[in-house]
Amino acid sequence: MAVIGERWPDRAEWAGKIFSSGWRESEGGTRQVIEPATGDTLAHVGIASPADVARAGARAAGAAGDWAAAAPADRVGVLLRASGALRERSDVFREWIVRESAGVPAKGDYEIAAALAQLTHAAALASLPRGEVLAPQAPGGTSLAWRVPLGVVGVINPWNAPLLFALRALAPALALGNTVLLKPDPLTPVSGGVLVARLFEDAGLPDGVLHVLPGGAETGQAVAADPHVAMIAFTGSTEAGRAVARVAGEGLKRVLLELGGKNSLVVLEDADVEAAALAGAVSTFGYQGQACVAAGRHLVHAGLVEAYTDALVRHALALRVGDPREEGVSVGPVISLGQATRIERIVDESVAAGARVLTGGRREGFFYPPTVLDRVDRAMPAYTEEIFGPVAPILPFRSEAEAVEIANDTAYGLAAAVHSGSVPRATAVAERLRTGMVHINDVSAKDAANAPFGGMGVSGNGSRIGGTASLEQFTQWRWMTAPGPS
Ligand code: NAD
Repeated sequence: MAVIGERWPDRAEWAGKIFSSGWRESEGGTRQVIEPATGDTLAHVGIASPADVARAGARAAGAAGDWAAAAPADRVGVLLRASGALRERSDVFREWIVRESAGVPAKGDYEIAAALAQLTHAAALASLPRGEVLAPQAPGGTSLAWRVPLGVVGVINPWNAPLLFALRALAPALALGNTVLLKPDPLTPVSGGVLVARLFEDAGLPDGVLHVLPGGAETGQAVAADPHVAMIAFTGSTEAGRAVARVAGEGLKRVLLELGGKNSLVVLEDADVEAAALAGAVSTFGYQGQACVAAGRHLVHAGLVEAYTDALVRHALALRVGDPREEGVSVGPVISLGQATRIERIVDESVAAGARVLTGGRREGFFYPPTVLDRVDRAMPAYTEEIFGPVAPILPFRSEAEAVEIANDTAYGLAAAVHSGSVPRATAVAERLRTGMVHINDVSAKDAANAPFGGMGVSGNGSRIGGTASLEQFTQWRWMTAPGPS
């Protein structure tokens, strides 16, 4: 078995276990964690059964009162110590992210920096003003409204940015006085769960406030259904988001949904083609296209499409595919064989329907190379489906109206980018796109701890995560009145 970070955390402590008031055996058994690039077994983790989830839910509910009542400075202290510990242990986190999620080291560094920003930002949230003094109903009375914690928050995450997605939900949830059940994806339970639990243990988080419950759909359903859980923060596919929302809705829980996308990168006729193609390459080929905000459609003005296509193919050919730990590799394997064959199916069906592969287009095991497709039409899967792989379908347009119409021709509405030599012109187009996020002369794949991240349409349910949106999501109003002197 390959060994990572033996100095910390002590494997004997967590291997094969779940974290719920200490490391403990689970009823759900254990599961191997496989490195996609090599097939090596990296670890075994505990899998939480529904009964394990129920016990964790009860413990988290038991700890919720004291944690909600803790002084904000105490909660901030935990977050800042966690931040210091993450900085100190960043080499261990980077190696786990690289090997478990199959990203290049720069992806690990990006995730660690983004996770640190989430901790810092959440620490600031804890002391923001959170209430209103209202006009009393009778003279001399008091009427106050303020935001209080929800109680237990269930966090269900995917594998593609395991550390970042864990922290972007649990840091604000904890800062604002909630306790948390974290269910990482079973493909990345160490960087998305085990290491997070150890980080907060070292930071002095009180017993029972955070539980880490690896597992698949069954564990996720148990978290969503648990009567102690007041809110679910879900990140993942639209299909699983619906399944989670159905169960959580039955329990009348708040549901925050961060779902899939079919994001357009729009290149207007006055754009800098080289800059746009570089942004397009980063947006589609970065981390093998496995980002919800990856560009899934390259919409290019007909007058530029040849130059743009040539530049994008050049970028694709320059990217070395291989084990992300090897020097010079930019594109690793996709996360699983299932994911790799799904990408293959989307490309093959599109080619059978008339699309042309300009580069790439041939899977080798878990590896799918950067691929550029043209002659794509609106009936093809490469146009209609979220690919979640390094595949760039290019479609020409002739007018801004047509570009907007194509970009909006999807039920998703997560992110977009618009390129133009004129920022006001790009802004005018951006304003007509039905997406929760839009970036001018940039990549489609952006996030920031202080920004409201999320999508329209089937990319979410109108909720957002990040910035002051997290303050709103992870708290609820309480109104209190008192009479004046009689
Ligand atoms: P997925 O939906 O299959 O899994 C996500 C999580 O949900 C995992 O923890 C999984 O175990 C759990 N899960 C799956 N089915 C469930 C069910 N029926 N009930 C309860 N839990 C269940 O996601 P995936 O395919 O592994 O991840 C990729 C998807 O996630 C893409 O669609 C991508 O766009 C989306 N995503 C969205 C964001 C965002 O912030 N909007 C970020 C990353 C990924």
